[in-house]
Amino acid sequence: MSGSKLMTAVRVSEHGAPSVLRLCTGLTAPEPAARQVLIRVHACGVNPVETYIRAGTYGRLPALPYTPGSDAAGVVEAVGGGVSTLQVGDRVFTTATESGGYAEYATASDDCVHKLPDALDFLQGAAIGIPYFTAYRALVHKARTRPGETVLIHGASGGVGVAACQLSRALGFQVLGTAGTAAGMKLVVDNGAHQAFNHTDEGYADRIMEATGGRGVDVIVEMLSNVNLSRDLHMLAYGGRVAVVGCRGSVEINPRDTMAKESSIMGVAVFFATPEERKECGAWLHAGMEGGWLRPVVGRQYPLNMAAQAHHDIIECPGAAGKIVLTM
Ligand code: NAP
Repeated sequence: MSGSKLMTAVRVSEHGAPSVLRLCTGLTAPEPAARQVLIRVHACGVNPVETYIRAGTYGRLPALPYTPGSDAAGVVEAVGGGVSTLQVGDRVFTTATESGGYAEYATASDDCVHKLPDALDFLQGAAIGIPYFTAYRALVHKARTRPGETVLIHGASGGVGVAACQLSRALGFQVLGTAGTAAGMKLVVDNGAHQAFNHTDEGYADRIMEATGGRGVDVIVEMLSNVNLSRDLHMLAYGGRVAVVGCRGSVEINPRDTMAKESSIMGVAVFFATPEERKECGAWLHAGMEGGWLRPVVGRQYPLNMAAQAHHDIIECPGAAGKIVLTM
């Protein structure tokens, strides 16, 4: 019985610095309720939002104590009542968990659990959830990007950025991406961008404009709006859209810059996706896994007992190289 299993998991009992992520052993593994599955977790993605929640600075906070982690990958260990689409032994990845993915076992609602094809390993499975669903939401549901349009993935070397590059290329967009290092720029091109630029270079925005023949880009998927939003408005073509995915503070813009191009700034929050939108996105991503264009890129890997280091590094260490993943 799953209830008798003991597990190791990361627990957060107070908000604060990465050191509040404590590794606890001998915890009782959760049991799946109706419409839930219990997953033996092999890997779990680390997302920046988990650091904001841990620090207590995010708008929506879980009750303490809690275990972080929404992007788990592993094998179904047990299923609760009413689960018809998943079976014990299935390889899966999640877009959300009930009990937390930084753990050896986690429960998740069946509509947040997706089958992981054999071609992808568990590390890659842990790099799909939030990044790919966010990329799809920004590009398709919010910016309504159309084939033939030019997109700039502003911050393309991290978890969401790599996903956005792959998705954009598969959808027939002209893809420009930025990174902060030469290795990051190579990664961006290797994952679907037609051209890459270094967002730490003076004048890189001019080079992006040159790459579009002076016309500007139709859509910007923005990972650091508090730094880039004002400049973004000058890089848009007529009718352009900025999809605000990442933001770590305030920024001053001149609203007149939106009038000059009749452009739009739109917020993106992946958790607002409706069940229908999640289903649509899931279907598209499965097509990508079958077709081979969806290839999650795993960057730095950390064992579960180094979760605090992973939280430090995802915020403090530039030079992203794909998704940061914890291994169990
Ligand atoms: P990540 O893996 O840590 O990647 C961060 C990215 O930002 C890297 O590509 C990094 O490039 C880039 N970056 C650094 N400085 C930049 C600059 N000046 N201009 C543009 N990009 C810059 O994080 P992630 O998982 O991709 O998430 C990216 C952001 O989106 C985070 O702020 C996260 O909280 C947010 N997010 C929001 C949602 C939502 O629903 N709205 C969902 C998921 C994530 P280098 O390291 O190469 O410099």
